[in-house]
Amino acid sequence: MQVLIIGAGMAGLSAAQEFVKNGHQVIVLDKGRGVGGRMSTRTIMPPDSQKGNADNIAKADHGAQYFSSKSPDFQEFVADFTQQGIIKSWQLAQRDFLRYVGTKGMNTIPKKMAENLTVFTNEKVIKIERKQVFTESEKVYTPDILILTMPAPQVLELFLHSNIQLNSSEKEHLQAIHYAPCFAVLAVLKEPTAIQSGGLILEDSPISWIADNFQKGITQTPTATIHASPEYSEENLEGDIAQIGEFLLKSASEWISPANIVSHQTHRWRYSLAQKRVENPYLEITNLSLPVLCGGDGFGIGNIEGAYLSGKAMAKRFT
Ligand SMILES: Cc1cc2nc3c(=O)[nH]c(=O)nc-3n(C[C@H](O)[C@H](O)[C@H](O)COP(=O)(O)OP(=O)(O)OC[C@H]3O[C@@H](n4cnc5c(N)ncnc54)[C@H](O)[C@@H]3O)c2cc1C
Repeated sequence: MQVLIIGAGMAGLSAAQEFVKNGHQVIVLDKGRGVGGRMSTRTIMPPDSQKGNADNIAKADHGAQYFSSKSPDFQEFVADFTQQGIIKSWQLAQRDFLRYVGTKGMNTIPKKMAENLTVFTNEKVIKIERKQVFTESEKVYTPDILILTMPAPQVLELFLHSNIQLNSSEKEHLQAIHYAPCFAVLAVLKEPTAIQSGGLILEDSPISWIADNFQKGITQTPTATIHASPEYSEENLEGDIAQIGEFLLKSASEWISPANIVSHQTHRWRYSLAQKRVENPYLEITNLSLPVLCGGDGFGIGNIEGAYLSGKAMAKRFT
């Protein structure tokens, strides 16, 4: 069967791998410049005067920072990618059990997953009409199965533009999913920080997390990632991004001294962690001209592991 998957994040790629394994023809579309979705690693180019020296190119994990692996299915995936050198374990000083990260950055994991798949990036899906799926670049796909893996509010938006009427239970399911927003500051540093084990979880603070990407082993040029807490991000969602960046850096000054900062950039994630999720690993939309399944980290256990399991479960629905 011809399968069209929207979203090349963890859920879309895990679904794609499983569909391909079961003999289906798969195309994955993503509106982003690259694959990975919220498993994003930023490359920060040096000022003109220092260009040409590869050691000056800084990298920072921008979205997801690490993940846990509890289910047998995901453990098998993590073991395979660890053996290939794509994933490594990370022991945070504040936590007892092991976490995992991309050896060279979080986005090397989805990049590896996408290697043998047909993925088209810079392709935004804007409408579904009967059996046809339309993109902003005016391409039209006619799949036998459609898989949607973007955050639930974006799925609802797509259905609205497509004039698709969901039944009340489907609407309730999708509307029940809530994502915390998150402001992220990426700072290029002169020197690595003294943060123990390279990652710090904070409570009762406008900041929830600080990572030292040099200590994490993904960059030769020291960088830090600062994530604002869900509460602070929610309260300041439409605030001035430059001021928010300055405020977060000031709040982090105990661990990153202002004199250590070379440059910084601030970003707003409207959807970060799926705080409220529905229990099932996916939602099947009924009464359409083709099977349409919605999945991703809003379904099941959430996070990167939940997105992986959701993707796999959607593909297994057709075996
Ligand atoms: C700041 C931040 C911190 C996080 N920290 C952690 C962490 O420490 N540990 C953890 O496990 N998880 C963390 N997460 C959550 C984790 O990143 C997600 O749970 C997981 O990556 C979700 O994968 P997904 O495939 O479900 O969704 P996504 O990664 O969002 O993938 C959906 C894809 O759909 C694409 N898309 C959307 N609309 C369209 C359209 N119309 N047409 C085409 N493509 C479209 C998007 O570009 C995107 O690539 C964090 C997330 C953020 C943002």
